[in-house]
Amino acid sequence: MITQKILYLLWAAHNYRSKKTCPSCGSCAGNIIDRKYIFTSLIECRDCHLYYRHPIENPQRAKKFYESNYTQDDGITTKLPDISHLNHWMANNFCDSPKNATVHLSVITNIFPDLKGKKIVDYGASWGYTSFQFKAAGMLVNGYEMSNRRASYAQRLGLDIKVDETLIPNENDIFYSSHVLEHVPSIPRVVEIARKVLKRNGVFIAFFPNGSEEFRKISPKSFHSLWGLVHPNYLNPEYLANLFADVPYYIQSSPYNGKAISEWKDQQIIAETDGDELMVIVKVNQKIKQQ
Ligand SMILES: [Zn+2]
Repeated sequence: MITQKILYLLWAAHNYRSKKTCPSCGSCAGNIIDRKYIFTSLIECRDCHLYYRHPIENPQRAKKFYESNYTQDDGITTKLPDISHLNHWMANNFCDSPKNATVHLSVITNIFPDLKGKKIVDYGASWGYTSFQFKAAGMLVNGYEMSNRRASYAQRLGLDIKVDETLIPNENDIFYSSHVLEHVPSIPRVVEIARKVLKRNGVFIAFFPNGSEEFRKISPKSFHSLWGLVHPNYLNPEYLANLFADVPYYIQSSPYNGKAISEWKDQQIIAETDGDELMVIVKVNQKIKQQ
């Protein structure tokens, strides 16, 4: 982890004077809103309002980093359990693991009360822990993961996770991504894939660290720590409202309000945004009805 940080800082120092171009909309207009380690800054794009880290990641370098060097200290995101531990988790559907997906599953259930037979894309499925729980809930899972190592590990969980985005089948009900968009080189590109593989009534559901002003006011230290080496994008409600300006969306931070989510139909709603995780639910293939 220390070597990883030193390499990152050397790279940042070397690229300190590189162009400040928004990875979402390409605009060069931006304001610095936070700084770390002299050479890295968090920039708010003046056009689309994404917060992004400068220096900007090169997609090839990012892929290589994710495949071989990416580490997290939570004991499960980047570290694999031994087989007896994995068997124990599989036997109890990950309910006593840090990758228990119950909260996200209940959000999905608020939209689709009967999950049986629903087709879901798990975009950025990693080692397959959440896909496993979706399958156990009766859904038909189409997993995608850019890392060969992670996708092949998921076979141990009885899952077939694709490493080629073009192999994700069409006509899905749900396009799910959890803590993926903060890592990707282009968020609009992921949304385009979702549009293509979702049914007309399908929903895009994504979870990520909360970059809202409300969260920053309440938890300034957490806000400052949540962007940087592994999180080049920091999504906030204003960016999401701009990205999804012409389609219905529901934006809220944790804890999620199940009743409000189940009542959401075709409106554009920004609910509470001061919790530590942010969620957006979007009907990406339906235009908003003009008031
Ligand atoms: Zn932008």
